[in-house]
Amino acid sequence: MAQLLSLERCDVSYGPVRALTGVSLDLQPGEIVGVVGALGAGKTTLMRALAGLVQPSHGSVRLDGEDITRLPWDARARLGIVHVPAGGGLFPTLTVAENLMLAEAPQSNGERRVRLEHMFPLLVERRRQTAGSLSGGEQRQLAVARGALSRPRVLLLDEPLLGLSPVTGATVMRLLTQLGREGVAILISEERPTDDLRALAGRLVGLRAGHVVGAAEVMPAFPGQVAGGGDLERVEVEMVGLPLSTRDRRALQTIAQARGIPVGRLIAELAHRHTEENAEEWE
Ligand code: ATP
Repeated sequence: MAQLLSLERCDVSYGPVRALTGVSLDLQPGEIVGVVGALGAGKTTLMRALAGLVQPSHGSVRLDGEDITRLPWDARARLGIVHVPAGGGLFPTLTVAENLMLAEAPQSNGERRVRLEHMFPLLVERRRQTAGSLSGGEQRQLAVARGALSRPRVLLLDEPLLGLSPVTGATVMRLLTQLGREGVAILISEERPTDDLRALAGRLVGLRAGHVVGAAEVMPAFPGQVAGGGDLERVEVEMVGLPLSTRDRRALQTIAQARGIPVGRLIAELAHRHTEENAEEWE
């Protein structure tokens, strides 16, 4: 089948930091592809390169076979490439209803919005609340709903399941499955090849230090972890104790980079110190 969106041998750098090297990826209509990788592996950059938010220094991006490498993000959005960043990309001072309104095509009969409101009751219950005052998980629901409402041909979702309750996560997965059946190509990132992601995606791609690898080869985020192992969640919770927000994780990446050590080592050191301090308290 013809490729809908493809990235061909792309390199992307932020100043001296190389984030992607020779990365190729194809998406067909209706296909759901999972991209997995540890913190800093390049998942966000891959999404941003497809969305037109960063320019590759080498390689190309194609939509329906046409070269769109130099097309800015807003033009790509008009062509149906919809990007839902990890932070949601919402307008925090606008209400839930207003955020949805901006995504809905003017000629829409509202059918799609009503369907989404049935799936996510929050969209009705909190319609007058500002998006910025929603919890992280609620913002994520609104962001995914908004992405679905904007009639995408390609939906790029950066860690949309992070922090969602199992029930809400299942609803998001049901929505994505429906969109896939309607022909939308979906790229969804997660740190690990979780059971949910395996159930949802027809195919998984791994990223490690900006290179494409097999999904089973993604670098473990913490020493002692085994990729794909069922113990990952338990080890992480025990060692760090707190789930990290996206902002925390960015800060850790910056600190690790400044110290010239891998982010996994920095987290392991912090976790070690945290555990020792707790141990002292308990003695
Ligand atoms: P996460 O799961 O934390 O979002 P990721 O897999 O999405 O990680 P990216 O955010 O794409 O990874 O980052 C890839 C590399 O590029 C990392 O080394 C990161 O520190 C670096 N990087 C990302 N954004 C910037 C930026 N704006 N300036 C400098 N370096 C950056």
